[in-house]
Amino acid sequence: MEHLGLNEIRKRFLNFYESKDHYVGKSASLIPKNDKSILIINSGMAPLKPYFAGTETPPKKRMCTCQKCIRTGDIDNVGHTARHGTFFEMLGNFSFGDYFKKESIGWGVEFLTEHLGFPMDKLWATVYLDDEEAIKIWEDNGMDPSHIVRLGKEDNFWEIGLGPCGPDSEIFYDRGEEFGCGKPDCKPGCDCDRFMEIWNHVFTQFSKEEDGSYSNLAHPNIDTGMGLERMACVMQDTLSIFDVDTIRYILDGVCEMSGVEYTDGDKDSDISIRIITDHIRAMTFMIADGIMPSNEGRGYVLRRILRRAARHGRLLGIKGTFLKELSNRVIEVSGEAYPELIEKKDYIQKIIQVEEDNFNQTIDKGEEIIQEYIRSLVQSGEKELDGERAFKLYDTYGFPLELTEEILEAKGFTADEEGFKVNMQAQKDRARASRKSNDEEGWDAAELDLNVPKTEFVGYDVLKAEGNVLAIIKDQKLSESLFEGEKGVLIFDKTPFYAEGGGQVTDKGVIFKGDVLAEIIKVEKKDGIFYHTVSLKNGSIATGDTMGLAVYNKYRNATARNHTATHLLQKALREIVGTHVEQAGSMVNENGLRFDFTHFEPISEEQLKEIEARVNEKILEFLPVVTTEMPISEAQKLGAMALFGEKYGESVRVVNAGGWSIELCGGTHVNNTGEIGCFKLMSETGVASGVRRIEAVTGTGVLAIANANEALITRVADAFKSNKKAIVDRIRTHIEEFKSMKKELEEIKKQAMGSEVDDLIKNSREINGIRVITSSFTDYNINDLRTLSDDVKKNYKNTAMVFAAVSEDKVTFLTSLTDDLVEKGYHAGNMIKQIAKIAGGGGGGKADMAQAGGKDPSKVKEALEFVDNLL
Ligand code: ATP
Ligand code: MG
Repeated sequence: MEHLGLNEIRKRFLNFYESKDHYVGKSASLIPKNDKSILIINSGMAPLKPYFAGTETPPKKRMCTCQKCIRTGDIDNVGHTARHGTFFEMLGNFSFGDYFKKESIGWGVEFLTEHLGFPMDKLWATVYLDDEEAIKIWEDNGMDPSHIVRLGKEDNFWEIGLGPCGPDSEIFYDRGEEFGCGKPDCKPGCDCDRFMEIWNHVFTQFSKEEDGSYSNLAHPNIDTGMGLERMACVMQDTLSIFDVDTIRYILDGVCEMSGVEYTDGDKDSDISIRIITDHIRAMTFMIADGIMPSNEGRGYVLRRILRRAARHGRLLGIKGTFLKELSNRVIEVSGEAYPELIEKKDYIQKIIQVEEDNFNQTIDKGEEIIQEYIRSLVQSGEKELDGERAFKLYDTYGFPLELTEEILEAKGFTADEEGFKVNMQAQKDRARASRKSNDEEGWDAAELDLNVPKTEFVGYDVLKAEGNVLAIIKDQKLSESLFEGEKGVLIFDKTPFYAEGGGQVTDKGVIFKGDVLAEIIKVEKKDGIFYHTVSLKNGSIATGDTMGLAVYNKYRNATARNHTATHLLQKALREIVGTHVEQAGSMVNENGLRFDFTHFEPISEEQLKEIEARVNEKILEFLPVVTTEMPISEAQKLGAMALFGEKYGESVRVVNAGGWSIELCGGTHVNNTGEIGCFKLMSETGVASGVRRIEAVTGTGVLAIANANEALITRVADAFKSNKKAIVDRIRTHIEEFKSMKKELEEIKKQAMGSEVDDLIKNSREINGIRVITSSFTDYNINDLRTLSDDVKKNYKNTAMVFAAVSEDKVTFLTSLTDDLVEKGYHAGNMIKQIAKIAGGGGGGKADMAQAGGKDPSKVKEALEFVDNLL
């Protein structure tokens, strides 16, 4: 067998299948597309499901890929087994209703024996019990019948719930007796390391029906998976996947940085080294695909992996951060096959650095706390850490629960996962409750027995409509009517009022009929029903009434300008800052807009200018803004930006500004970007780790800002008794004057101190042959006193000074000794302890100078006299 590098095996595989007329697909992103069943792509076939299901057309009926995979389920195996990583690459060939078993097995054998040089007599295959067809094909391809092992459903039949399923056949390589358990019946399926599974071929030929029966698929499929790292491990004859060429290079980096030797064994340090080696690969690839560390979903997986790696680095004795540096090696060995790693290198490394820095800042404290918890568990004889404390570690110190568990486990303890969840939920509830109590009307639709149809929203097209009152909610109960001066919630059959949502605020407006008039406070939408919270100014409203509903177009227009501008801003950000920018939150009202997005560092002044200019450019291009309803698949073809993780229905609303910005959005917009008038950035700040916020205004908002700035300048000029033209010079002159006055003042103070020194010497006394100066001051602060004592020391020796700076409710003492006294063994720090004690304080300091506070100014005299006793 040839000794091939990992990158070479990948190339040969893809080339081989290309020669068999396969389309060579690029690895899909680790983030699944339109697939809520998995968090992260975990196999070669996962991103191809729509091709197998027939909902999308593949580029060709034969395809092959090398797919990046993450399996979080294997995280506890990593480092402990020879064959698991959280990250790995899966090679696969696929047939969407084209070729079947014969070609799949035949080409598999051809590739292994002719292109990789596997000896046929080292190969084994497992097949599903009664899959005679597969057995025959194996024999036809030269497999020794004694190497074909029949296994049951749990081993060789692939199915998930209902739908397509079928038998599979796994190819094993016999690594030799020396790897084996020695049992006479050892064969594929045995737990030992002799037979290594290298390739699984799945023959999807059945469909499982509701009644449990299996029907034949008209067009059976092929789906195979071969772990690239494991293949390299076999071909390079290494002990584990961590010794494979490219991965070993990363592992060596860990050893260099930590100075710890890798012994290929089961020592704790070996395990840590393998964990870091795997995790650095996982995080580098995840970040390249746009995953950001966070406390939820994929972001949490990334955070967990990154923090776990950082912690194992510490266990190896690495000081400071190291992951960013280590990621270089991942990019070096995988960059050619995955160019996105090179393209996004700076970005990837910044995210790693920020997250590792953040973690490092709290980890020490957190570790201390965990150790304290462990001591208390030992004392109380408990085995489990309660959920409250586990949650505190998570909430305050950023310890993922799994990390806490891992640290506990090493000492033989566990954590109460249920209790952790309860605490997590309680915190969420508290947050929700505080949001709710801020609401004016705390009603809950779920608690009312409402029987009304969904509200028809007509507000995209008109701002005025007539609606029938279907229900009235008052004091959180259904009611027949609402009277003057009361607040309540109205539900209509249709409405032009936009309900708060997608970051856009409720429309403002009125509900009226004759002289009945109600003002809209807010409109909320739940399960398609619009709830209008109103305040009734005049008359009464009863269920069944027909009312006029009118939106104030001034506010609506201003809000629309800001909403469309938000779309332009997002597009500009993605163009100028990078495509990793994703919306993380947004708020649009008539006064302005706020847009939160994923990015790891402040945006530079220059880029901000560029962004503002780009948005204004697009406004002045007068781009038409067109909204269209269409199937989600079509929207995707247009490249519409969708909210990450948001659920969309079959049909979506697409807002398209001149083909430049295309977003899925339910909000209200201008008809032409020109209506926005003007766009001005107000601020750019950080709101959370990896999330930035931009605030901006448009149209009349820009004018308002300009006017406000102008007014501010006028006020400043007035305050300086100047005018707009002269104000800058005026302020400069003031500053100059101020500076020279300050200097003068310091001079005067210095002179005053000079005479102070003379006075002090005059009033000194002699104790034990030492000149003693004690004095209390009310007009000098402690810094002044230090200067004063330095001045004395300049000209006098053999002198001990104790000063007190006294204010109304406290006193600060300074003890200062000339050097010759210090040499004789006097110690200012020790002296001041006793002096300050008398005035109810404490402190200390060095031998030549010390400082201390006291709480009782009335004891100052007594304290200063005590100096004589001390000396
Ligand atoms: P195992 O039982 O060893 O965990 P598996 O049955 O989960 O493997 P499959 O789901 O059949 O594996 O995945 C197909 C191939 O992907 C495997 O044959 C193996 O080569 C590779 N593979 C699976 N999990 C990992 C992993 N955690 N690290 C590296 N390679 C893996
Ligand atoms: Mg597995």
